[in-house]
Amino acid sequence: MKSICVLGNGQLGRMLRQAGEPLGIRVYPIGIDDKLETIPYQHSIITTEIERWPETPLTCELARQASFINRDIFPQLAERLSQKQLLDSLALTTAPWQPLTNRTQWPQLFTELGDFVIVKCRTGGYDGRGQWRITPDNLSILPAEIYGQAIVEKAIPFLGEVSLVGARNINGQCIFYPLTYNLHQEGILRASIAFPQPDKKLQTQAELMLSTIMTKLNYVGVMTMECFILNDKLLINELAPRVHNSGHWTQNGASISQFELHLRAISNLPIPTPNIETTAVMINLIGTALNPAWLSLPLVHLHWYKKDVRPARKVGHLNLCSNSQQAIKNSLNTIQTLLPSEYNDSIGWLNTKLIHSPRHDE
Ligand code: ATP
Ligand code: MG
Repeated sequence: MKSICVLGNGQLGRMLRQAGEPLGIRVYPIGIDDKLETIPYQHSIITTEIERWPETPLTCELARQASFINRDIFPQLAERLSQKQLLDSLALTTAPWQPLTNRTQWPQLFTELGDFVIVKCRTGGYDGRGQWRITPDNLSILPAEIYGQAIVEKAIPFLGEVSLVGARNINGQCIFYPLTYNLHQEGILRASIAFPQPDKKLQTQAELMLSTIMTKLNYVGVMTMECFILNDKLLINELAPRVHNSGHWTQNGASISQFELHLRAISNLPIPTPNIETTAVMINLIGTALNPAWLSLPLVHLHWYKKDVRPARKVGHLNLCSNSQQAIKNSLNTIQTLLPSEYNDSIGWLNTKLIHSPRHDE
């Protein structure tokens, strides 16, 4: 099997490398400052775990390679303005939005979008960074240099957030996981849950949207679509042209993980629809030190990224999967006693989702 170079050496690259092992695929995560001579890029398929990168001798050389999958798609998707324009051109619903170019726009923006809006940097934001929640009273919190660099969106009073992780291969075949329900706080994903039998109506809607996007772009590999649920309709929040935090549960809750699926799709290997037989829960570990006692729970799969622990930094995640909702609940109750109190909201939210799941069987 051909080796794969991944631009970026964070946790996504690490998990792609782990997924390559059983397939016999060597995966080389690459830091943007790594030395070109040390990388077998000329004999590899090239992919990325990041959407934007600075121009360095290494990134320029990689970007010259025809084997860089989706290479020409990244600029369009990594920029919020062009991403929104793409979605508009495909008549796919997003939160109503406008480019933010001048402070004189504000009266008209509040009239059109309502008195609660979110300003988002066109590039470079993640985990809620580069975003401001704006009302007519707090306009002064916006940095002066934001004009021309941001979009404004209506704040959506959503019922919940879901994401769809899917993949497309070179022949145009598209496959999907069941929708994942996500809890974000302060813009950071805290917890996710997925069920083997998703809400059919939402699932069909989401699959149609994501397959339209992937097909239009001629995209190959895993792509993730984040959505808001509004009544029984989905609005697209944003797209990530890569494996995604909300798909981490697939490492233990699916017969093929999102990481393996991405490697298969870009290597032109078969991509059957993964089997999902259990309810799967993921809790992000954010700024929390490793506690070996988590491992005393048989349902807990720990994925630790070996990063320095800092506030608000994603340092690992816990996956729990079972056919028995009660078994998951029992484990969540115990894990709650082994985590700091800031996890109480996430665990409370997961428990509520389990009660209202499409397969509540106990
Ligand atoms: P990511 O880490 O997923 O890349 P991000 O920093 O790019 O996140 P978004 O996904 O745009 O940011 O927003 C983060 C979260 O903020 C969303 O998941 C949602 O909870 C909230 N949010 C963003 N846009 C809106 C909106 N228009 N209305 C309501 N809430 C929103
Ligand atoms: Mg997001």
